[in-house]
Amino acid sequence: MTSSMCEKQEENQYKVFVESSEPKELLPLPSIYDYIVVGSGPGGTTIATRLALNNFKVLLIEAGPDYDDGVTRTPVFWPSAQLNPKITGHFHPYTFSEDDNITIDYPRGITLGGSAQINVMVAMTANPSEWDYISQVTGDYNWSSEMIKRKYLKLTENCQYCTRRDNDKNKNGWLNISIAAYRDPLPLHQTNPVLYDLLDKVKSQYQFNPNINYENFYDSYFFGPESVTEETGTRGSTYRRIKNVQSMKKSNLCVWTDTFVTKLIIDPRTKEACGVEYVKGSYLYHASPLSSSSSNSNNIRKSSIYAKREIIVSGGQWMTPQLLQLSGIGDRNLLRQFGIRTIQHLPGVGVNQQDRLESTYVVKLKSGVNMAGIRSVNCTYNTTHVDPCLIDYIKHPRTSPYSANSGLFMMLQSTQPIRPNFPDTAYVFLPLRFTGFRENWVQEAFQYPVGAYLTVIVNLARVTNNLGSVRIQSTNAFETPLIQMNRFTGPSKQIELNRIKQSIWYLRNLILNSPFSKYVDYEELPGSNIQTDEELEQFIREYVWSHHACCTAKMGNTRKDPLAVLNSKGQVKGIKNLRVCDISIFPKIPSYYPFMSVITACEKIADDIIKRAKY
Ligand SMILES: Cc1cc2nc3c(=O)[nH]c(=O)nc-3n(C[C@H](O)[C@H](O)[C@H](O)COP(=O)(O)OP(=O)(O)OC[C@H]3O[C@@H](n4cnc5c(N)ncnc54)[C@H](O)[C@@H]3O)c2cc1C
Repeated sequence: MTSSMCEKQEENQYKVFVESSEPKELLPLPSIYDYIVVGSGPGGTTIATRLALNNFKVLLIEAGPDYDDGVTRTPVFWPSAQLNPKITGHFHPYTFSEDDNITIDYPRGITLGGSAQINVMVAMTANPSEWDYISQVTGDYNWSSEMIKRKYLKLTENCQYCTRRDNDKNKNGWLNISIAAYRDPLPLHQTNPVLYDLLDKVKSQYQFNPNINYENFYDSYFFGPESVTEETGTRGSTYRRIKNVQSMKKSNLCVWTDTFVTKLIIDPRTKEACGVEYVKGSYLYHASPLSSSSSNSNNIRKSSIYAKREIIVSGGQWMTPQLLQLSGIGDRNLLRQFGIRTIQHLPGVGVNQQDRLESTYVVKLKSGVNMAGIRSVNCTYNTTHVDPCLIDYIKHPRTSPYSANSGLFMMLQSTQPIRPNFPDTAYVFLPLRFTGFRENWVQEAFQYPVGAYLTVIVNLARVTNNLGSVRIQSTNAFETPLIQMNRFTGPSKQIELNRIKQSIWYLRNLILNSPFSKYVDYEELPGSNIQTDEELEQFIREYVWSHHACCTAKMGNTRKDPLAVLNSKGQVKGIKNLRVCDISIFPKIPSYYPFMSVITACEKIADDIIKRAKY
């Protein structure tokens, strides 16, 4: 090679033009971008839009379509959004290990906006100690809770309940968060008397927390914050953020959807990342129900595109490590198995995977009891030709039951007092039959009217099992990787099982041993036949689920920690001009619900990128 791969930009740029299946789309674009961002979930959206607003030329590449409809926008329809094969992919990780051969359906958004287009919109910040931990392991003060809190306040400037700055005209925060109960002018005992009675018992045990995102370090009950735009009652998503920034800075933010990045272009001699190889086409990735399982990226001619400054990978917890491994960044033994030349030996890529442990407590309510509240009585959830609540939603988006995810309230509880100021368990109360994200849960749940069941999700934060892993199974970039959750293994196995057991026993007591029990017909899950610790443990093993997998390309001290993939600025160890920013960068699973942590973290990394570019 006479010159380095990264110097050949012009030549390959020409190739993009002649090889692309859609040359017209590429023609008017600037020939070379400052940055290429791969993946448009909360991580990629945050980075790409911040850079575009700072007048850099950004190309955001997304495998999924540019898709938006009334269902994705309407908060209450989140279960239907997950049923949409155009935007939702399904992974099937092994619950334990490959040898046990037990898999679970695990939805992810593969669409413009990423999983934030199909998620449940619960918008919670991480505990201050979680940010301080990142600051401590990376030695970067900008990760401290004090510094991160400033970012959060800036991001949520438009949130009326968060900052109580309604009169401030100079509000630029893009993260829309609101609380349905606060939008309703009627008092709870009028809108939902059944819930009011349930809260009566809760109030005797827990303090009410009016703003959980401001103070989340004590046990409390609260109404769940959601990423819903208050005025319009719609999903306040990453998708909207992309569209808004495009309308403001059209020439700075170029978005390619239905485009799959198969490999990062890295010069093996200089270890400099300078571009990506990609294929244009819809539903190429095998996680998509609409993909053809025989499609193989190795048999398709690829195009390439280059960036002047940096490449940022934001593909999420599984697709990010997969892309790194396919590009020669990962454990050299794994790469060798597939004949991939190692550019940077980083054994931390694809390990350290963590996920919450979630379980559900479900009771069927007596006939005539409506847990969803009086405004929901006539709702058909878009299953009939005329849905009175949909009409009401269009007229009254602030107060309609459709302008919220239908969550009733939440609680934070400390079950392990060993670490003060960090409640370790969240409970989410829902007025429907929800058994967790598993095959056909939506079809099963909606066999019963909304309001006929009460479900409580037990959501463990602070899990310490980090033995999950993700690794490529072939060099076909369209093939999903091998994902092993390795639940209930390692030293924390019994602690975590005990924590869930304790929570389920607690809920049984809270619901059946209180005046609220007058509304209950029977306990469906775990069911009255489960009476002993052993029986409950068996139930938990069968029913455990989760949906916040993370931490597979973690930040850390890259000099001391051999498993650290990134430094505190999201830069990949040993590779120039390559960063990662998404849910995979966290050393430990963040918060109770992670997407706000991803956004806040990527705002911080966007600052780092901008600082590097300017000075
Ligand atoms: C069903 C469900 C419900 C959830 N509910 C909540 C909730 O209520 N609250 C909460 O805080 N969190 C929730 N989450 C989690 C949250 O949505 C995710 O943690 C968050 O979206 C992660 O953001 P990300 O940027 O890391 O990745 P993602 O959102 O997964 O986005 C990654 C994007 O990158 C694209 N991509 C990947 N690889 C490539 C490639 N090679 N080429 C091109 N494009 C690529 C993907 O198509 C995808 O669009 C939920 C998640 C799911 C799946």
